[in-house]
Amino acid sequence: MKKMNTYFMRIDFDGDGKITRNDFESMANRFAESGKLPEEKSKDLFETLTAIWDKFLMNVAGGGGITKEMFIETMKKAVRDPNLKSAVEGPLPLFFHAVDSNSDGFISEEEYGEFFKILGMDPNLAPASFKAIDTNNDGLLSEDEFRVSGTDFFLSEDQNCPTKYFWGPLV
Ligand code: CA
Ligand code: CA
Ligand code: CA
Repeated sequence: MKKMNTYFMRIDFDGDGKITRNDFESMANRFAESGKLPEEKSKDLFETLTAIWDKFLMNVAGGGGITKEMFIETMKKAVRDPNLKSAVEGPLPLFFHAVDSNSDGFISEEEYGEFFKILGMDPNLAPASFKAIDTNNDGLLSEDEFRVSGTDFFLSEDQNCPTKYFWGPLV
């Protein structure tokens, strides 16, 4: 619940206390505008992010926005849905390439700070998250580490799982 509460705060881009398709579109647009992805990939990211809305959240919203309470309830149920994994995993490789700005195949701590900045988060919060998901402690995030942690964030119900810090400290 704390993770979904945190995620809700991070993706409510316009801060209106509700999640709508617009929040997912804005997230994709921020990445497109950051210029870190070629146009084609930006379009992919837009599609995979809005698919999370279209596949899991649109029905919940019933034409309106989703409040935090509704969102947490939905995700509590969705965690048992076998399709959730592919939906939340889908955007991660695209995020990865957007964040790996020097294209060396790894995300450095500095690049991870950029990721937070694009999401409108305080980049000072990035190092703690970075360390939590750098599973082999080599000071770099591989695509695997990033993808597995980003997926575990939604699927793991283990309170001690360090991937809970993927989207910054829990709020
Ligand atoms: Ca919103
Ligand atoms: Ca890099
Ligand atoms: Ca690593």
